[in-house]
Amino acid sequence: MANKLFIPGPVEVAPEILAEMGRPMIGHRSEEFRALYRDVIAGLRALLRTRAHVFTATSSATGIWEAAARNCVRRGCLHLVNGAFSERWEEVTRRNGKPTGVYAVDWGKAHRPDAVARELETGKYDAIAIVHSETSTGVLNPLAEICAAARRFDDVLVLVDAVSSLTTVPIDIDGLGIDVLLAGVQKGFALPPGLAVFTVSERALERARAIPDRGYYFDFEEIARFAARDETPATPAISLLFALRRQLERIGAEGLEARFTRHLEMARRCRAWAKAHGFDLFPEPGREAVGLTCVANTRGIDVPALARFCAARGFTIDAGYGKIKGKTFRIAHMGDTTPADLEALLAVAAEFLAGAGAGAEAGAGPR
Ligand code: PLP
Repeated sequence: MANKLFIPGPVEVAPEILAEMGRPMIGHRSEEFRALYRDVIAGLRALLRTRAHVFTATSSATGIWEAAARNCVRRGCLHLVNGAFSERWEEVTRRNGKPTGVYAVDWGKAHRPDAVARELETGKYDAIAIVHSETSTGVLNPLAEICAAARRFDDVLVLVDAVSSLTTVPIDIDGLGIDVLLAGVQKGFALPPGLAVFTVSERALERARAIPDRGYYFDFEEIARFAARDETPATPAISLLFALRRQLERIGAEGLEARFTRHLEMARRCRAWAKAHGFDLFPEPGREAVGLTCVANTRGIDVPALARFCAARGFTIDAGYGKIKGKTFRIAHMGDTTPADLEALLAVAAEFLAGAGAGAEAGAGPR
């Protein structure tokens, strides 16, 4: 049997959802497809509670980073950087030929709204890019405060990467004035990867129309034009849309508030477990993500050995990302993961720690 995934994406997918992907194929210009598309968009709109345009794209989240750059940035985009993904988003915008600026704080720290306002006052930018939950460091940036600071600048579009926060914490897209919000489905939605979900405000769509060279595949106007007749410009990942429709029903049955509560309870449990075992958390206090926990390896354990020990017992965890690999490890608790699943993993990790690191690893082996 495959290992249970506790990495921050892709996450564990329910067998029922995998089965949904095995449905017979349908044509993407058929009435059956249009009904599927309508159900998916209506389900997403209810979940996201927004009046903005809601779209899906056949790509991972990175595609919508490109889309945001091509459709929304003219003068320049200010990127708030505090980890590997926010760093990469800036690179993507720059490589799409758009002027960028970086405001960076140390990995593990969260961004502050006053600094954002100072940067935007330079007048160099007409867009700001914020990664809500920096998956590499487990930091949850204060989105409401940052959006409020940005919204003081009339022509600045607010672009939000909610890849590892969407469906784990509430996000008031319209209330915060978010112009583009994007996520992939292999995290909070607990689907196999390959589909992105995103929202586009009316003013972002207007901005797009005024930008001539915005490409084709991710052209917001083209996507909106096809969406108006419940279709997509190119052939979509139909199997994933079947899966998303089913998953939206499952999320609806659990209830979004109940889902947030489950995620928060698991996050609290995981943080408490880490502290009880002599670790610190990598994010600054009070800024911890809810969909995952990034543990600081303050005990100096052999993190790859911990990951191997867990893997040999059926659990996959992450041994840290990029420059903090080994100095941290990450445990995801998003999507459909239950408190009981998390307890099973934490028990195994505790077993490794009780065996005092390297010594414990010698005892590892498939069971
Ligand atoms: N943004 C964040 C915060 C992420 O965690 C990730 C991937 O883990 C991405 C963007 C990129 O997503 P994808 O690999 O699905 O394109």
